[in-house]
Amino acid sequence: SIGIDAGRAMRTLPRWQGAAPDASAHKFRRGMLLVRAGPMPGAAALSAGAALRAGAGYVVASGARDVPFAAIIAEEGESYSRRLADPRLGAAVVGPGYPASAALDRDVAAALESGKPLVLDAAAIAAALPGLGETSAILTPHEGEFARAFPGLTGSKVDRTRAAAKRAGAVVIHKGADTVIAAPDGRIMAAWPGSPWLATAGTGDVLAGACGAMLARGDDAFDAAVAAVGWHILRARAIGPGLVADDLVKA
Ligand code: AMP
Ligand code: MG
Repeated sequence: SIGIDAGRAMRTLPRWQGAAPDASAHKFRRGMLLVRAGPMPGAAALSAGAALRAGAGYVVASGARDVPFAAIIAEEGESYSRRLADPRLGAAVVGPGYPASAALDRDVAAALESGKPLVLDAAAIAAALPGLGETSAILTPHEGEFARAFPGLTGSKVDRTRAAAKRAGAVVIHKGADTVIAAPDGRIMAAWPGSPWLATAGTGDVLAGACGAMLARGDDAFDAAVAAVGWHILRARAIGPGLVADDLVKA
């Protein structure tokens, strides 16, 4: 049987609540994350902001102009490949606010080439799948993105998510009211009940950034995914009516 209560899960693993940094911590050791933005600037801001709040020590928003915190490095120039090659870089997020395009394909290819752990969201999921190989990755599709990325899967959401994780060789967060998280090694969890207040623009971008923060500091991809989903739901429940994605970043 599967199924977690997000609150119980967060109490089980202390680091999910953001265990305090120890004395040896410095910003790069807490995790350096690169967020590759598409043409929708809000998405990059939400992902990068969530990553900083989720504990990444250093966040670069490549391609972004407007970011919510002064500490986030926003770079519009040609620094994306150089940033991917930085040995201190722990992980990269590609896809929030980034529609399918030749530019996205190029950016996804560069991210795969880097060998870094990746969070792939939205159209970046289908773009990456043929070349994912051994890359450690978290894929964050909603139902429509899932159907495009994993055609031909049938059965329950649990069955389909499990099969998708095996097919991709990556952790899959299959989002929605009944989010299912599966790893290629068979680990699987359902986050239930979710919070319907999350059904608003930008919340998926926040989730991707939070996943990225945990990958950047070296967490196991499945643990990172479960932690980010649990965190997302708990904060949404606490905020409740009127929730907008920016509130999740602040929370
Ligand atoms: P996206 O589809 O990328 O904007 O992401 C939306 C986020 O909100 C995901 O984390 C979903 O799991 C969550 N979400 C969307 N609709 C619902 C719903 N009806 N109930 C609970 N969570 C939802
Ligand atoms: Mg989305």
